[in-house]
This record gives sequence, C-alpha cells and structure tokens, in this order.
Amino acid sequence: MRPAWINVDLGAISENVRQIQRVTGKSIKIAAVIKQFAYGHGLLPVARKLYGAGIDFLAVGSLEEAIALRDDGYQGRILFLSAANPDSVSYFFNYKITPAVTDEAFVHALNSFGKKNSRSIPVHVKIDTGMGRLGFYPDQVKTFLAKIKDLKFVSLEGIFTHFPVADTDSNFTAGQLKIFQDLISQLKNQNIYFKYCHCANSLGVANYPDSHFNMIRPGLILYGVKPAQKVKIKLKPALSLKSKVIFIKDVSRGTTVGYGREFTAKSKTRIATVSIGYADGYPWSLSGRSKVLINGKFFNLAGRVCMDHIMVDIGSTNQVRVGDTVTLIGKDKKNQIKAEDLASWAGTIPYEITTCLSRDLPRHYSNPD
Ligand SMILES: *Cc1c(COP(=O)(O)O)cnc(C)c1O
Repeated sequence: MRPAWINVDLGAISENVRQIQRVTGKSIKIAAVIKQFAYGHGLLPVARKLYGAGIDFLAVGSLEEAIALRDDGYQGRILFLSAANPDSVSYFFNYKITPAVTDEAFVHALNSFGKKNSRSIPVHVKIDTGMGRLGFYPDQVKTFLAKIKDLKFVSLEGIFTHFPVADTDSNFTAGQLKIFQDLISQLKNQNIYFKYCHCANSLGVANYPDSHFNMIRPGLILYGVKPAQKVKIKLKPALSLKSKVIFIKDVSRGTTVGYGREFTAKSKTRIATVSIGYADGYPWSLSGRSKVLINGKFFNLAGRVCMDHIMVDIGSTNQVRVGDTVTLIGKDKKNQIKAEDLASWAGTIPYEITTCLSRDLPRHYSNPD
C-alpha cells in the first residue's frame, strides 16, 4: 500500500459543534454543511457523527450527496443549497430533500409533481442580498411569493441569504443583514411567516451574533478550520494528512533537486523523499515554500512538489529514517501544521486545501461514537 493517508478525529467535530453552541446558545438550530465530501473529510462518517451530535439539518450541494445520506439510513432533514433543474423534482419528493428555491419554474415543477402524487414539499426561499450568485433580489420576492401563493403542494418553510465578505467588510455584511431583516418584517406584515430564517456561515456564526436568527449554516468551522484569522471560537482540527519517508539520499553542495532544478544544496545535506504529491491534493503551489513535520521537527520542502512525491531537506540529521511518518497537516509531538498554514503558504484558502485532498486517499476515522 502506498503510505499516504488521512486521519479524521470525529470527536473533534462533535466538540466543535459544542463550541459553536456555546457561542449561539442551544436554542439556535444548526444546518451542518457537508457539501463536497464533507469538505474533504468523507461524507458518511462525518454525517453520522453530526446527526449523532443532534444537528437539525444536513446541508448538501448536490443530489448525489443527499441520496447517499438516505441510502445510508439517515432519516433527518436534508437541505439542498444549490439551484436545481426542474427535471429533478421527483428526487426531492422521493428522497425527502428540502430544496432551496431560486426561480419560479422550479417551484411550479415541484407543485405539479406534488399535485400528481398528492404530496406536498417544504421549501426554503433563497435571497440574494449581495452574494450575486443564486436567489431572488429582495425587490423580486414579493412578486414571486404572490405568484406562488395559491400553489397547494409547496409550503414556504424557510428563507435565507448568504454572506460574501463576512471576513473583510463588516459594513457590507451589516447592510445585507439589515436588508434581510427588513424583508422578513415586511413579509410578516403581510402574514407571511417562515419557520426557519438563516444566513450565518462560519464567519457569521463567529463574528455576527445578529446573523444567527433561528438557524445557522456552519461549514468550515465544524471541521475545526478557521476561514479567517479573527475567528474567536475555540476549534479543534479534525483532519490530519500523513505520509512516510520512502527514501533518503546524501547530496553534496551544488546538487539540484527536483523538476525545474529549483533547489540547490548550499552545503552537504540529506534529502528525504516522501510519498505524497499534487495528485493527492498537496498543492503544486507549495513548491519550495512549505514545511513538514517528521518526529516532531519541522523540515523545509526542497524544490517542487511532484505528482506523487515531495522531497524534504533534512539537513545533517541522522534522526530521520526510511519508514518514518511525515505530517503534512496535523500535530506531531508539540508542533502542528494547520490547513490554514498550507493555505497561506500556497496562496489559497483553507477550504481549497481540505476539499481538494484526493478522495482516493484512505481515510481512518477515530471516535465515531
Ligand atoms: C458552503 C456554504 C455555507 C458554509 O460556509 P462556511 O464558510 O464553510 O461556513 C453556508 N451557506 C451556503 C449557502 C453555502 O454554500
């Protein structure tokens, strides 16, 4: 077996849920976002842990994910966050998936299917208060709601919006919140009520208490990863990425290492080859600019990341041996490398680091219950 794997501490995920509840209070409902393979952590083990931890909805980005949850026996609520094709309405009924609605045609398609089969479906209306992606503009909502108000097989259950700059622009975010709040109260005046009002992503949860309404939609912080530095929740990272040293060689001064010959030994040193590369999701942009942990000590990458190898400058040490475990993300003795560190070295965001880890890497789960 190739020695590259992921460890996921599911206990950290339930601990993070508790930390989130300390911030919001226990009465606020949670739609736990597990799209894209639970941010790379593995869909089903994470989902099982979360529904054991008492969350209210699992929020997905695709029908495939929702169906996988049902096939796994999950009977709780599923919220589908994206825009769906009217051809797919049968799945929403048959698998009891709650859709976000972003256009009228889809709602009519839901209603027709419901009518034919004498079943109704709850929906959450998506509002674009500044994300510029999906949803109705606030000034379109009333017309839309008036047009669908006589549809008997679609019930309005939720209303929600999403933040694009909760990390960098608190004025804009506060403005979005105000638009959303105003809309909810105007609709209330027309006797249109929603059981669930939600907008807080991870940053909303952590930094905007007014955004909690009665449900939150955290993703990244569930996994113990911070979307921005100023997040003040105590979090425990759930994921570690590990590999092993598979070869060590002595190199003399002036020797170059790897593609592009970008690393040159400044003096006699030792180079360890490690079995992980960009095809595993260890970004090529970390070439020459990341660190790994071996036996609790930091070592620098030597040269470029290859498809399934990296080379590490271990200096003159003879403490590193073939077969030693290498930590790419995670803790080793007193030291730690976080997904956030890799993201900043690679010039990307922590979301991309965890979601792009290859789904072929074996994942080992601890503390499942
Ligand atoms: C992905 C997503 C979230 C979760 O965002 P985080 O920043 O990971 O907390 C919440 N809401 C919607 C609509 C999303 O697409």
